[in-house]
Amino acid sequence: MASQKLVDRYNRNLNYLRISITDRCNLQCIYCIPHERIIHLPHDEILKYEEILRIVRIGVDLGITKVRVTGGEPLVRKGVYDFLGSLSQVPGISEVALTTNGVFLEDNIQEIKAAGIKRVNISLDTLDRIKFKQITGRDAFQKVWAGIEAAHENGFDPVKLNVVALRGTNDDELLDFAGLTLRFPYHVRFIEYMPIGKSRMKFGPPLLIPEIKDRVQSIGRMQKIEKNANDGPAERYKVEGAIGEIGFISALSHHFCDSCNRLRLTASGQLRPCLLSDHQLDLKHVLRAGGSDSELAETFLKAVRNKPSDHNLTINDPAGVSCQMSSIGG
Ligand code: SAM
Repeated sequence: MASQKLVDRYNRNLNYLRISITDRCNLQCIYCIPHERIIHLPHDEILKYEEILRIVRIGVDLGITKVRVTGGEPLVRKGVYDFLGSLSQVPGISEVALTTNGVFLEDNIQEIKAAGIKRVNISLDTLDRIKFKQITGRDAFQKVWAGIEAAHENGFDPVKLNVVALRGTNDDELLDFAGLTLRFPYHVRFIEYMPIGKSRMKFGPPLLIPEIKDRVQSIGRMQKIEKNANDGPAERYKVEGAIGEIGFISALSHHFCDSCNRLRLTASGQLRPCLLSDHQLDLKHVLRAGGSDSELAETFLKAVRNKPSDHNLTINDPAGVSCQMSSIGG
């Protein structure tokens, strides 16, 4: 198979695959998990590790070079560290990254490092222990913070902290988060809440990046950092004298669809060309029906052909996405 075929109708080169390996999570964040009883995928509906690895190898033949493992919470899945090791060794993959809520990070950082993972993104929406329990349902702030420190001490660089900005929940902490970059070399990234799936959030006016930026300005002089080719969608800044960075990710207010290089593989084996559109292709069905590598490759190519030019969520009229974030992986 020739490489670099994953170029879509808008000339975007889709070389980045984000893989959700489970829809299960050890936290129950108010904005991510719905009110009603959560129905998890039956185990046999979730892709096996060998199946994911086969899909990744085919993706690499088509031009995938970078993968991110996410969930649900990836570190709750049995066998994850061996899987990460196998993934890092797939020829043609230049980077395997991990997104985690950090609860199991401290205890497993050596395994993660040994598996060849170089980058971790840790989700953290508050610096307050009580509020952490209110948001996530679990008294685990200290455990997560210890995980962040462990990642840093073990040479993960940069350690990125993902903060979903929620009006009325954590918007009183925006400056505290920005202030972390004065003391730690972390990259604190503010992310706009996206109306995906059902959630227990009460929707007020959305808290968008222009307002967040405005509110953190008082921290000090913020210098913009020029993006390099491998940067993701974050607009990057450094506060004068800081050792860390602040990033702003404006999926709603100023979407970055024209430079999107992502495909997503859900826990149930759906290939999803756009996070914010429910259109997806059933790779698992092709695979379990005995599909050949060429047939699987054709499914990749079909997904790429169907990648929309941009998502149709707007600030004032969010159409919403019916799939839960916990099964897509963010
Ligand atoms: N469990 C892992 C974690 O917490 O990082 C990985 C999965 S989680 C779904 C991935 C990211 O999606 C987290 O940073 C989470 O805060 C974010 N997220 C979940 N729902 C979101 C939403 N509606 N809008 C924006 N980000 C969301």
